Amino acid sequence: KNIKKYFPIKGGVLKHTVGHVKAVDDISLNVIRGETLGLVGESGSGKSTLGRVILRLLDPTEGSIQFEEQDITTLNNRKMRPIRKDMQIVFQDPFASLNGKMSVQELIEEPLLVQTKLNRREREEKAISLLEKVGLRADARTKYPHEFSGGQRQRISIARALALNPKFIVCDEPVSALDVSIQAQVLNLMADLQEEFNLTYLFIAHDLSVVKHISDRVAVMYLGRIAELAPKQGLYETPLHPYTQALLSAVPTTDVTKKREKIILKGDLPSPSNPPSGCAFRTRCPKAHERCAIVRPDLTEVSEGHFVACHLYSKED
Ligand code: SF4
Ligand code: MG
Repeated sequence: KNIKKYFPIKGGVLKHTVGHVKAVDDISLNVIRGETLGLVGESGSGKSTLGRVILRLLDPTEGSIQFEEQDITTLNNRKMRPIRKDMQIVFQDPFASLNGKMSVQELIEEPLLVQTKLNRREREEKAISLLEKVGLRADARTKYPHEFSGGQRQRISIARALALNPKFIVCDEPVSALDVSIQAQVLNLMADLQEEFNLTYLFIAHDLSVVKHISDRVAVMYLGRIAELAPKQGLYETPLHPYTQALLSAVPTTDVTKKREKIILKGDLPSPSNPPSGCAFRTRCPKAHERCAIVRPDLTEVSEGHFVACHLYSKED
């Protein structure tokens, strides 16, 4: 609720704070139990930072985080520990996130050692069953990450994330580093696991095609804020925000009736340390008008569950 995450920028010989990167700039978001909420934005839009703040891997500058019925914003490590079991993360790059010196058995067993009282044999059994769930053979246990392909390594990361029977997983671009041919397999696996284990996902991606099938709702982020949030069908069929429309125009479609003219956005993402006044998207928006430079548009519900932050849809216009 009202999450801000500002990173100080240090400058000069005395390393004073000379400004802030506003990675997340006042976001309120619900993730509903059992759903997949897709969170999409360009790199630098703040989506990974938001994912980490939600998991309390980073402390927010402002705002609060509630998990189930509990406010967890200021819980200390000891009090967070039992809650950590329920919340996991799968990172983009399985090459970097898996310690190459640990065997697959050790990687999967590590969270079990920290958080459970399972004995050695029980941990082995658990690892074997998890490997099976993610489509790997039991003999993978004795191998090391470098002996696997990118897709297989991501399966190992997923097995590790599942070890403590979590309820909620932040999937931070888990397929972005994988070959396109492998992406669908891993996405399907994640969808199957979600069903089997009643998981809730916050699924981060940098383009709308990746989250299309797996998401129930999708939020589009731009420069630390939410531009649009809607149930999947509404977002893909009637995108309202000019930024969503541009992102969607880049998604390839085989359906000729749905072919959209490709909208090319001018310029780059502005610096999050010095975002444009008013609507942060106005420097690239084909529909920007006078009001957009002056007033920041609030995220407003325009039809059931469909929210947009754009003056084209606000009543004052
Ligand atoms: Fe474009 Fe203005 Fe809407 Fe921002 S508020 S998206 S600049 S039309
Ligand atoms: Mg990221």
